[in-house]
Amino acid sequence: MTHIAYPPSFYAASANVSPQRPALHGEVETDVCVIGAGYTGLSTALFLLEHGFKVCILEAAKVGFGASGRNGGQIVNSYSRDIDVIERSVDPKKAQLMGEMAFEGGRIIRDRVQRYQIACDLKDGGVFAAFNAKQMKHLEAQKRLWQRFGHQQLEILDQQQIRQVVACDNYVGGMLDMSGGHIHPLNLALGEAAAVEALGGAIYEQSPATRIERGNQPRVHTAQGSIKARFVVVAGNAYLGNLLPELAAKSMPCGSQVIATEPLSAEQAASLLPQDYCVEDCNYLLDYFRLSADKRLIYGGGVVYGARDPANIEAIIRPKMLKTFPQLQNVKIDYAWTGNFLLTLSRLPQVGRLADNIYYSQGCSGHGVTYTHVAGKVLAEALRGQAERFDAFASLPHYPFPGGRLLRVPLTALGATYYSLRDKLGF
Ligand SMILES: Cc1cc2nc3c(=O)[nH]c(=O)nc-3n(C[C@H](O)[C@H](O)[C@H](O)COP(=O)(O)OP(=O)(O)OC[C@H]3O[C@@H](n4cnc5c(N)ncnc54)[C@H](O)[C@@H]3O)c2cc1C
Repeated sequence: MTHIAYPPSFYAASANVSPQRPALHGEVETDVCVIGAGYTGLSTALFLLEHGFKVCILEAAKVGFGASGRNGGQIVNSYSRDIDVIERSVDPKKAQLMGEMAFEGGRIIRDRVQRYQIACDLKDGGVFAAFNAKQMKHLEAQKRLWQRFGHQQLEILDQQQIRQVVACDNYVGGMLDMSGGHIHPLNLALGEAAAVEALGGAIYEQSPATRIERGNQPRVHTAQGSIKARFVVVAGNAYLGNLLPELAAKSMPCGSQVIATEPLSAEQAASLLPQDYCVEDCNYLLDYFRLSADKRLIYGGGVVYGARDPANIEAIIRPKMLKTFPQLQNVKIDYAWTGNFLLTLSRLPQVGRLADNIYYSQGCSGHGVTYTHVAGKVLAEALRGQAERFDAFASLPHYPFPGGRLLRVPLTALGATYYSLRDKLGF
């Protein structure tokens, strides 16, 4: 069987030591079989184990192989579309529940890091940076919206104040969220996997689920074995492929690219991001960046609809980085990688049941570090018979992308071009 390794990212190169995990061989019986060892699967497993369930995770490659081990590392509150969109989509009680959960993920991550002593370079503070007056107005409205749902750690920054946070003249202002922040994403996943195992959970790597046999006790098959369980949780997200065509029909894998510079001097790093906060801009196709613990600038952006891997990632992302920080003209890029997230048409998470005992959560559309941790808690609650919060997410309507399998990529890219143009023109 082919062994699937991590992509050559900065995160893989600086990963904490973790054990070689076995592939599944033979038949196993458990309470819950989780498909996928990203944040969704790991968070679900941890919450279940903490409540006495027996849990096995099947991972096609390695823990954190997907988006969870490759992302920008930015702890961003709420969802890819904000709570006001949710309020227009579902009844007020469900919207209220999802609004409150929009700020829970960061707290779960911090609790995990502390409780399980996970070394993942956690830092507090995230900034949304605005290019124009329209984006500033949007941030002011976002602050009021988030405050209405009880989130108070927000501060609007004017042009002078954002210059104290990002050494870049392109922004007219921003919003600081002190409950945002950043992490080494792969090390968070590896730490959560170690916690799963410490609580008695089993993780099988290099073990893609190839088929789910439905029934009173569903059975998940791999090439060399199977797991019989009371419940199955599907957490394969953009890497799930066509295992469940009914899920694939209403979502689309998309790629985002990231580069990491060589380590900068302490002075140079502090001159770019003096407070060491992470930053994402307010454009529809946004750039996101932050410093690593060893003072590299980690810079991401760009979306490839349909998730084809671009040939030269540095050629796509370096010009974006230099637009923000022209002073890095002579700095070397040490790593460049791509990863896939799962887009839904509404850009809201796709959550539900495929049967009484088969649950899923996916499709957080590029903003998933916090949501996936909430998803784990909500999935675990549902399996324990408390499904109110799960059902709130499950009530979000989802539709196929226009154009079907053939035309959804060019049509979505066309839509994004329209929104990018609006960003450039500031209307
Ligand atoms: C480049 C990039 C940058 C991003 N930056 C940010 C950011 O800064 N902040 C933010 O909030 N969000 C960000 N995101 C989004 C965020 O990383 C994701 O939303 C989140 O990690 C998704 O977690 P997940 O567990 O649902 O999926 P994944 O982490 O993708 O995990 C799914 C796992 O399932 C496994 N799998 C799939 N199919 C099978 C199968 N059949 N059998 C067994 N295993 C299977 C895969 O191998 C994979 O390990 C980014 C995403 C990308 C790609």
